[in-house]
Amino acid sequence: MTKITLIKGDGIGPEITDAVVKIIEAAGVKIDWDVQTAGADVIEKEGVPLPDRVLESVKRNKIALKSPVTTPIGKGFRSVNVQLRKELDLYANLRPCYNLPGVKTRYENIDIVVVRENTEDLYAGIERQVDENTAESIKIITRSASTRIAEFAFDYAVKNNRKEVCVVTKANICKLSDGLFLECARETAKKYPDISFKEILVDNCCMQLVQNPNQFDILLLPNLYGDIVSDICAGLIGGLGIAQGANIGKDYAVFEPVHGSAPDIAGQDKANPTAMLMSAIEMLNFTGENKAASRIKNALLKTLEEGIKTADIGGSASCSEFTNAIIAKL
Ligand code: ATP
Repeated sequence: MTKITLIKGDGIGPEITDAVVKIIEAAGVKIDWDVQTAGADVIEKEGVPLPDRVLESVKRNKIALKSPVTTPIGKGFRSVNVQLRKELDLYANLRPCYNLPGVKTRYENIDIVVVRENTEDLYAGIERQVDENTAESIKIITRSASTRIAEFAFDYAVKNNRKEVCVVTKANICKLSDGLFLECARETAKKYPDISFKEILVDNCCMQLVQNPNQFDILLLPNLYGDIVSDICAGLIGGLGIAQGANIGKDYAVFEPVHGSAPDIAGQDKANPTAMLMSAIEMLNFTGENKAASRIKNALLKTLEEGIKTADIGGSASCSEFTNAIIAKL
């Protein structure tokens, strides 16, 4: 039986995790879940939001399914998500965004894959108070990290039959840092003559995304722009409730929805488990459970097609009604 770390998180985390575990069980997939808690609720008992046992569990099992984890603001803790990605060297953040049936959006036929560098940029967290009135934050971009994420994007394009990689930077302003990211993408592109290569500035990219998103295929971005642009892409396909994600490194992979812990709707049986479920479906594909993955995906798509959906995407089903409808289709 495959052993997988399951990080339950907080806010809506436990509800959507339970929903997804039930669906996977109903599909007949046998997983030995190594359940780990993290986030605001464990600080009281263990002193930190991401105890070592969680990292050790992922290192043991190599794969994790993770729901959102809140990092308390202004209490001196480093973000759990950032720490997890950094400690496990999960350098690639992969966020495929495409339209789902029954989810009304402004544009149709969107099929964009966001590939975001996950370990450096302003997320390196190197900040200092220069004096009372000045703060400084250092943006780190290295050749090795930029090249490996560019290679990841092009390899993904080849393996998944995609046509184009578009690198997104602000290299006209951040000439050295974004300039290096761009240079690494250009160098990598030369090794993949069958994949077309485009360059765009991040401000123009945002405008193009809201005016004509169908022009984009794979977007390759440094960490911060990747964070922002992937939320635009989530908005294009119907919002955070359906936006899936994965953090992939050489040794480990952590699958998680793009959204946060949504404290405003926590504990009310209102959360949409789709983003978490789609992330789990990718995890099943990753572990070789492709048949079960496509059965679950079909059940999800059919449920949405029938108009059974949660409030965030215009429906009236609760999280548990939606979950049960998917299970009934399995
Ligand atoms: P973070 O900083 O952790 O990303 P955030 O507060 O910026 O958190 P979210 O927690 O993702 O963002 O919530 C943003 C909005 O989207 C909230 O109104 C929330 O209720 C809604 N939302 C997020 N995820 C879901 C979901 N799975 N189902 C329904 N609504 C959701």
